[in-house]
Amino acid sequence: MYDLILVRYGEMTLKKKNYRYFLQQMNRNIKAKLKKHPKLRFFNTDYRFYIYLNGEDYRPIIEQLNIVFGLSSYSLCVRADSDYDKIAEKAIELIKFEKKQALCTFKVETNRSDKTFPATSPEITKEVASRVLPHVSGLLVDVHNPDLTLHIDLRHEGTYIYINSIKGLGGFPGGVSGKGLLMLSGGIDSPVAGFLALKKGIDLVALHFASPPYTSDMALQKVIDLLQELVKYTAQDKIKLLIFPFTEIQEAIFENVDSIYNITIMRRQMYRIADIVCRKYDLDIIVNGESIGQVASQTIESMKVINEVTKLPIIRPLATYDKEEIIAIARKIGTFEVSTRPYEDCCTIFVPEHPVIKPKMERVEFQEIKCDFSNLINKAIDNIEVINLEKSKKYSIFEKMKISGNYEI
Ligand code: ATP
Ligand code: MG
Repeated sequence: MYDLILVRYGEMTLKKKNYRYFLQQMNRNIKAKLKKHPKLRFFNTDYRFYIYLNGEDYRPIIEQLNIVFGLSSYSLCVRADSDYDKIAEKAIELIKFEKKQALCTFKVETNRSDKTFPATSPEITKEVASRVLPHVSGLLVDVHNPDLTLHIDLRHEGTYIYINSIKGLGGFPGGVSGKGLLMLSGGIDSPVAGFLALKKGIDLVALHFASPPYTSDMALQKVIDLLQELVKYTAQDKIKLLIFPFTEIQEAIFENVDSIYNITIMRRQMYRIADIVCRKYDLDIIVNGESIGQVASQTIESMKVINEVTKLPIIRPLATYDKEEIIAIARKIGTFEVSTRPYEDCCTIFVPEHPVIKPKMERVEFQEIKCDFSNLINKAIDNIEVINLEKSKKYSIFEKMKISGNYEI
């Protein structure tokens, strides 16, 4: 039925100065997602992107468009030469194909950007409507509240006709907003924070703190599976996961620090490490899933004390979200099911019963001098394990262990 897909760009139209750059990146990203469909032909103007299907099935194409950021909406169109009879003929076919009820009200809306066409938009609307109406049974005109609007986009290259506009993900094209380090746990929040950062065009590297044997291989596999849900939203279909060996640092905290400060100090070490990793991998910001007041370490007072160890900007996309709102996004993006698998995270071990909720800086600093944390951090940094995850490849740590002989069945 359809000849092409008309894609409308999103919020980037606000970005006057960067517009051209955004546009190019957006077009590159769409083409990259569709590279497995060599028959497609692309064409763009300043505000739109056209995908000519050339006989390809539209369904796998729109599946890809639904995971591209920077896209405001798209429409499945038919094309006709700019001639009333030809437009009407295609319009009749399209309405019959998309009309759901036996009785259906409709209106025609025309946009004439080809100013050489010798009629005004209202005239075109009238001419087309009068040719369409007698040929579709059960169709009535209602210009105020129609069930169906037939859009006629009369352009220099031809006329595009469509009925529905499907909403895209919005945001900015992947890769236009620099690079960030996503602190990724196995919980519900951090994958959602990662998704929202990707939505604003930030490329991500993920950092996970693992504390084996207190945290299990299953907990690590959960993090990998979460990233494999997120990877499809990246522009390159790839994401790097850094696994930081956190065990000794956590044990040192447990042994040396007054227990009510455990969490505050553990979080400060996490940020110190994130800061070093950002510099090492040339990343501009830290992204995490903290949400104000969610737990003791996420009160404003705690955040202030914890944040103090780094000068890098920390983006907390979920800072003001309620848990329910976060869960709704997690379900939509496909991470919720993985996040709710029952494995422990390093944050859930060694947790004191009554962690301090309003830590004082002098007391925290006093606790920290009890142990040479920077030495432990420097040692562990060299033992970070790197996994390069790709959309099309499933990664199983158990397979890897079998191959390396470290895993016994
Ligand atoms: P939950 O949905 O259970 O709240 P969470 O991932 O948000 O999961 P929190 O204890 O609230 O867990 O942690 C706050 C943030 O700190 C996380 O969103 C994440 O960005 C970061 N974080 C926590 N644990 C880890 C970890 N093991 N590795 C990397 N980052 C972590
Ligand atoms: Mg949380």
